[in-house]
Amino acid sequence: MDDSLTSVTLSNGLHMPSVGLGTWQSPKDEVRVAVRAALDAGYRHIDTVYTDLNEDAIGEVLQEYIKSGKVKREELFIVTKLPMIHMEPTLVKGSIEMSLKKLQLDYVDLYLIHFPVQFAYEGPVTEAGLLKVAEKTDLTGTWKAMEELVDLGLTKSLGVSNFNISQIERICKIAKHKPVINQVECHIYLPQNELFDACKKLGLAVTAYAPLGSPGRIKQLIEKDDPVVLEDPVIRKIAKRYSKSTAHILLRNLLQRGIIVIPKSVTPHRIRSNIQVFDFSLTKEEMDEIAGIKTKTRFFWRFGKQLFRSPRATLVKNCSIKTKVGLKFSLTYLYMYYNC
Ligand code: NAP
Repeated sequence: MDDSLTSVTLSNGLHMPSVGLGTWQSPKDEVRVAVRAALDAGYRHIDTVYTDLNEDAIGEVLQEYIKSGKVKREELFIVTKLPMIHMEPTLVKGSIEMSLKKLQLDYVDLYLIHFPVQFAYEGPVTEAGLLKVAEKTDLTGTWKAMEELVDLGLTKSLGVSNFNISQIERICKIAKHKPVINQVECHIYLPQNELFDACKKLGLAVTAYAPLGSPGRIKQLIEKDDPVVLEDPVIRKIAKRYSKSTAHILLRNLLQRGIIVIPKSVTPHRIRSNIQVFDFSLTKEEMDEIAGIKTKTRFFWRFGKQLFRSPRATLVKNCSIKTKVGLKFSLTYLYMYYNC
């Protein structure tokens, strides 16, 4: 077992397990099975978000394991996120309290601002809620409200998600409690080298979402002829060499780059398998070969950008999508986090 890669030391001194369970789009009955399988397989890091509406099911399983003594709270690393509708500073504390109640925890280990774009608050998130972009996003104001959560003991650390370099710099300039993580889409077709280097200089580690290329992503994020990360020929060749799955090679590649991974699965045998990445290592030549893969693409939120550039751009303001869990998301300006 390669111990040096099993966790990452964050800039605040906490150790974050480098393989976590992703839970996006995992319905409650399936996420219960998934979290049990993950904890039994040795995962101690679970990634969730209020807007997935499955925090309560995750909380039930965490309590079951803590109460039975199978795990101790302090061994767990639980991550959740501030939804875009709660970025107004006065709403931030109430938002984490809602998550904590559902998770049945006194604190989370890491609380992230989910996106650098604020939605207008029109009441609590409900199955039927329609979300609209707010007139203004005040990232530093939101950050100041996030810092109080650390002082109150509601989270051990703070971070961001889907932030670009200039947005992180803005936060770092005013931060008393610095962000320790930026969680972004990252895989062989979107290696995020520049962002990773900038985060490192600013003291942030990177968590890769969609590390397997998110094959189960919502249909609005799928385009005809999208390349399939799990079927990349270079990855297949290396997987065969080690008698490993392509998922193992993809995850191991990110871990060897110093990146934390949160592969999502609701399938127990895949969950057990995805953490079996510490019994082999890739050579420098293999890492270089993977870095040299020419295919490059972004799967998440590129559709907002495309719509905005289209002649029908003015219609985008009213465009919304309904996700699997029943929330409607307005797409307007989502693309802005790459540009502002
Ligand atoms: P992903 O982890 O790259 O891919 C998940 C998909 O791969 C699921 O459809 C899963 O299917 C399948 N899968 C899992 N293990 C596999 C294996 N060994 N072989 C073949 N297929 C496998 O993508 P993701 O869910 O988009 O991203 C991971 C996590 O990142 C999310 O769950 C969420 O926690 C987080 N995330 C964060 C953001 C953000 O904005 N911060 C955005 C997206 C995601 P089954 O479940 O059917 O097994």
